[in-house]
Amino acid sequence: MVEQHGPLCMRSLQGALKRDKHLKHQGRMQYGLFLKAIGLPVEEALLFWRLAFSNKTDEQFQKEYAYNIRHNYGLEGKRVSYDSFSCGKIIKGGAPSSGETHGCPFRHYSAGNLEATLYKDNISTNHVNEIMNLIQGSHYQLACTKYFEVTHPDHDKIDVIEHPNVYYELSLNDSD
Ligand code: SF4
Repeated sequence: MVEQHGPLCMRSLQGALKRDKHLKHQGRMQYGLFLKAIGLPVEEALLFWRLAFSNKTDEQFQKEYAYNIRHNYGLEGKRVSYDSFSCGKIIKGGAPSSGETHGCPFRHYSAGNLEATLYKDNISTNHVNEIMNLIQGSHYQLACTKYFEVTHPDHDKIDVIEHPNVYYELSLNDSD
C-alpha cells in the first residue's frame, strides 16, 4: 500500500528498507510513526520491522530495535504516544547524512537524483521542469502537491500537502 499510495518520502524509506534490510534511527522514526498513523498496530509493527531487518538475529532485534518501536507507541519510557512527522518537521529537520535515508526527497535529494526519480515515475518532461522550478524557489511542499496532482489526474483539486499521512489518505481515497 505504501509503495502505491505513500508520498515520495515514505516510498523512498520503504525502498531503502527493502534494499538495505535496515534503516538508521531517523528513518525508523519517520517511517515507523507514519505506519503507526496509517493504522499499523504495535504487534504488526514489531513483526513488520522484524521481517524487514532479516539479517539481524532475534537477539539483536530485541536488544537494539524492539524497545524503540514499543516506545513510539507509548509502551516504554515516558509512555508518550508519538505523532507522525509533518512535512514542515521533515523538511526543516536535519538533512540525511551518508547512509541515512530520512527526509523529504523534494528538499533533500540532489537535483539529479530527484529528476531521475521523477522520470522513473513516468512524470512528463514539462511536469518535471515545473517541479524542479518549484524546488529552485524552495517551494518543496508545492512541488510535492504538483507531484500528487500529476500522478492523480482525476482527483479533485487539493490543498497544499502539509503532512505525509494526508497525502496517503488522499491517494488511497482516490483509488476507491
Ligand atoms: Fe513527504 Fe511532505 Fe516531502 Fe511530500 S512534502 S515528500 S509528503 S515530507
